[in-house]
Amino acid sequence: MDADPPFVPLAGGCRCGQVRFRLETPPIITHCCHCHLCQKTSGAPFRVNLMIETERLSVLDGEPRPFQGANSHKTFRCPACGLSVWSHHPHLGEAIAFVGVGMLDEGERLAPEVHYFTRSKHPWVVLPPGVTAFEALGDPGKAEARARIEAALAKAGAGGAMRAWTRGGAPD
Ligand SMILES: [Zn+2]
Ligand SMILES: [Zn+2]
Repeated sequence: MDADPPFVPLAGGCRCGQVRFRLETPPIITHCCHCHLCQKTSGAPFRVNLMIETERLSVLDGEPRPFQGANSHKTFRCPACGLSVWSHHPHLGEAIAFVGVGMLDEGERLAPEVHYFTRSKHPWVVLPPGVTAFEALGDPGKAEARARIEAALAKAGAGGAMRAWTRGGAPD
């Protein structure tokens, strides 16, 4: 059996460069969401986020500041340019971070493994043939991703969060 090639850490940062960060392992999963909230917050037809255990996201430079918007995800922003560097989903808490792949220097290394909320996908957006996609939410069928999320939540003492997540409010 061939071993996986070693992971080359993905680095990224805010617009002004004051905040720099690095993913120490491959993400849990990379997903593309076409829901109305992602459209609203990105100002675009969809948003592509990766999920990773927050403890595997190293801040190399700068001090991102927490910002809790009303009825929204908690985000960590660059104090200088104001860009959101990562966010936390209310159902999963701070053990799991969501990072927009556009924040990475080489975001093109991460193609979405799953598409959510295709029911509100803009009609001109054509998905690659064979990609896993759901009208709303669904199980992407990546056992390792589920195990990593459960482990991170258990470690944070938030075991109930995974049930809330799979029941369906997320990742809106
Ligand atoms: Zn900045
Ligand atoms: Zn969404």
